[in-house]
Amino acid sequence: MKTLFIVVPCYNEEEVLDETTKRLNDKLNNLIKMKKISSQSKVLYVNDGSKDKTWELIKVIHNNNSMFWGLSLSRNRGHQNALLAGLMTAKEYADIIISMDADLQDDINAIDEMIEKYNEGSEIVYGVRNSRKKDTWFKRNTALAYYRFLKFMGVDIVYNHADYRLTSKRVLNELEKYGEVNLFLRGIFPLIGFKHDVVYYERHERFAGKSKYPLKKMLHFAWDGITSFSIKPIKMVLSIGIIIFVVSLFVMVYSLIVKLLGFTVSGWTFIVCSIWLLAGVQMLSIGLIGEYVGKIYSETKHRPRYIIDETLKENQNKSK
Ligand code: UDP
Ligand code: MG
Repeated sequence: MKTLFIVVPCYNEEEVLDETTKRLNDKLNNLIKMKKISSQSKVLYVNDGSKDKTWELIKVIHNNNSMFWGLSLSRNRGHQNALLAGLMTAKEYADIIISMDADLQDDINAIDEMIEKYNEGSEIVYGVRNSRKKDTWFKRNTALAYYRFLKFMGVDIVYNHADYRLTSKRVLNELEKYGEVNLFLRGIFPLIGFKHDVVYYERHERFAGKSKYPLKKMLHFAWDGITSFSIKPIKMVLSIGIIIFVVSLFVMVYSLIVKLLGFTVSGWTFIVCSIWLLAGVQMLSIGLIGEYVGKIYSETKHRPRYIIDETLKENQNKSK
C-alpha cells in the first residue's frame, strides 16, 4: 500500500490550523480505513517563518497526534520555497505527495479522486478549480488575462490550477534537479512531463484569516512566472529593433525625396535620418545582446535536458 504525505505550507495561519488539522485527520484516517493508503501516511506542516503562534500550535498538534509532522524554516521564504522544502522532505518518506494550502480553500474531498487517478497510472494529478464564482471580479479577470498572457509568452501551465496537486515520489526526484532560485512550481511540473491528469474541485472561501498574498506579492509572483520561463520579452526587443531599423531605411528614402523636392528647412533631413537610424541600430544591438543574456540565463538554471520515462532493453541481469 502506498504512503501518502500531505504537505501544507503555513504562514501566520494560527486561526485555521485547528480546523485544518481536524479535517485532515478525519480524511487521512478515513483513507487508511478504506485501505487506500498505508497507515504510515502523514500530514507535514511547513512553518514559513510565521510571526504568530503557528509553530507553537504545530508542535502541540504533533505531540497530540503523531500523524502530524512539522518543519520550520529559519525565516519567511515565501509560499513556493516553503512548499519546496516540504516536498523535498516528504518525498524521503512517501510514495505519493499532495500539496495544499492551509486555509481549506482547496476541497480536501478531491484527494480521493487524485489517488484514484494516481492508481490509474498518472504521476501528476493537477487540482483545477471548476469556477471562479467566489473570486472578486478583479481577481477573476486579472487571473484570466494572466493565464492567457503566459500562454502567449510560451509558458506551459495548467489553466486554473494553483498548487493543489498530487505528485509521485519519482516526479519530485526529477523536480530536485531543477536548480532555479526564482521558483514558479506550477510552471515546472508541466516541464517534467510524465503521464498526468486533472481533477476538478470547487474552491471555497478562506476558512479564517486573511490572504497571505497581498497584491504586491501577487504581482511579484506573476512576474516571476513570466521571467522564469520565457525569454520572449528579450526576443521582442530584437524584433522591435529590426522593425525600427527597416522603417528607418524607408524614412531615409522619404526624407531624401522631400529634400530633393525642396519641401524642407535645412538640417531637417540629417536630423530625421540620424534619429531613426541610430534608434534602430541601438535597439537592434540591445536585442542582440539580450539574445546572449537570454542564453546565459537559460544555461545558469541548469535545468535537466531530458527526463527518461521508460527504457526497453535486454535483461542484462548477470546473476545466475
Ligand atoms: N504562505 C506561505 N508563505 C507566504 C505566504 C503564504 O507559506 O509567505 C502559505 C499560506 O499559509 C497558505 C498558502 O501559502 O497556506 C496560500 O496562501 P493564501 O491562502 O494566503 O493565498 P491565496 O489563496 O489568497 O492566493
Ligand atoms: Mg488561500
